[in-house]
Amino acid sequence: MEKENNELKTAVRLERKANNAAFMESRTIFKTIFESSRLGNKIINRDLTIIEANMALITLLGFSSKRDLVGKKITDYAPDHRRSDWVILQDKLWQNTTPFFSLETCLVKADGTIIWCHVTSILFIDNGETLGYTIIEDVTEQYNLRTQKEEFIGVASHELKTPMTSLKAISQILSRQLTVGTQVSEQLFKLLGDSERQVTRLVRLVDDLLSTTKLEQGQLSLNKSVFFMPDLINTISSHLQSEDKDRLQLRGDQNIEIFGDEHKIEQVLVNLINNAIKYAPLSKRIIIQVEQLEGFVKISVIDLGPGIPEESLSKLFDRYYRLEQNRFTAGLGLGLYISSEIIKRHGGEIKVESTPGKGSNFSFTLPNRNASFPLVYNPV
Ligand code: ADP
Repeated sequence: MEKENNELKTAVRLERKANNAAFMESRTIFKTIFESSRLGNKIINRDLTIIEANMALITLLGFSSKRDLVGKKITDYAPDHRRSDWVILQDKLWQNTTPFFSLETCLVKADGTIIWCHVTSILFIDNGETLGYTIIEDVTEQYNLRTQKEEFIGVASHELKTPMTSLKAISQILSRQLTVGTQVSEQLFKLLGDSERQVTRLVRLVDDLLSTTKLEQGQLSLNKSVFFMPDLINTISSHLQSEDKDRLQLRGDQNIEIFGDEHKIEQVLVNLINNAIKYAPLSKRIIIQVEQLEGFVKISVIDLGPGIPEESLSKLFDRYYRLEQNRFTAGLGLGLYISSEIIKRHGGEIKVESTPGKGSNFSFTLPNRNASFPLVYNPV
C-alpha cells in the first residue's frame, strides 16, 4: 500500500515537473517573440499600467530603457486631442464588449514629435490574472503619403471642376442653339450629343472624387429641405439617353414627399440608376420602386442583370471596390461608397440584395421628416 502511494506521488511529481517545464518553455517562446518583434509590444495590467514593453516600442517612442515606460500608462504618451482614442479602446477591451480591438491613432515621442500608429489589443490570462497585450506599429509614413494623396486628389478635382462645368454649359448651349436656329447635319448633331454625354461623365467622376475627399475630411454637410419624388425622377430621366429612359419603370406611389438634401439624394439615385444601366445592359427593365412605410420612405432600384456574387455583397460599399468582371467598364468604385455615406448621414440605410443570373436590388431608406428613427450613424 505504502509502495503504491509512493509510486503515485512520484508520478504526480513527474507530471507536475513536465507541466512546469512545458509552461516555462512556452513562456520562453512568448518572451522571445515579444522581445524580438520589430513591432512595438506592451503588456498592461487591470490598472492599465505598462508592466512590460519591448525594445521596439521603447525605440518607437524615442526612449532608451524599459524604465522609461514600465510603470507608466500609454495615455501618458498620447497627445491631448487623441487621448480619448486610447480611453475608448481600453474601455471596450476591459469591458469585454470586444475581444479584440484595432485602431489608428497618435502617440507623442520623447522629443515631442507626433507619430501615427496602428494599434491592436487583446486580453489574455496569465497565471490567473487578466492582462492586455498590445501591438503598436508606426504607420506615420503611410499616413503622410495617404494624406498627401488625398490632398492632391482634392486640389486636382477642385481645379478640374470649374473648366469642366463651363465646358458642359457651353456644349449644352451649343446643342440648344443648333436645335433651334440652324440646319445641321445629323452627324454633327450626334457628335454634339456624344460630347455632351462624355463631359457629363467627366463631371460625374470629378464629383465623386470631390465628394470622397470631403467625406474623408468630415466636410460633407447636408442641406435638407422638402422635395417631391416626381420632380427628382424628372430631373434624373431628362439626363438619360432615350433608350435608357424607355427601360425605366416606375412602381409604387411616386407622388411622395421626401425630406433630405435634394442634390445628394439625386446623386445617390443617379448612381444606382447609372449602375443598373452600366452593369445590367441587357436588363429589359430598370425598376424604380417607391414605398411609404411606417416612419420612412424606401426607394429601390431593381435590375434584371447579371447580379452580384454573394461573397462580394458585403464589400460593395467599400471605397474603390469593384467586381473583377467589371474591371474594363469605366468607373472608380466610389459611387456606392459615397451613396452609402450620404444615406447614413440622413439616418437611413442602404443595402443590396442580388441573385447571380437574376439581377440586383439596391435600396435605401430615408426617415420621414418628423419620424423618430434609431440613429444608425453618429456624425463625427
Ligand atoms: P463604379 O461604378 O465606379 O465602379 P460603384 O461604387 O458605383 O463604382 O460600384 C461598385 C461596383 O459594384 C461596380 O464596379 C460593379 O462591379 C458593382 N455593381 C454596382 N451596381 C451593380 C449592378 N446593378 N449590377 C452588377 N454589379 C453592380
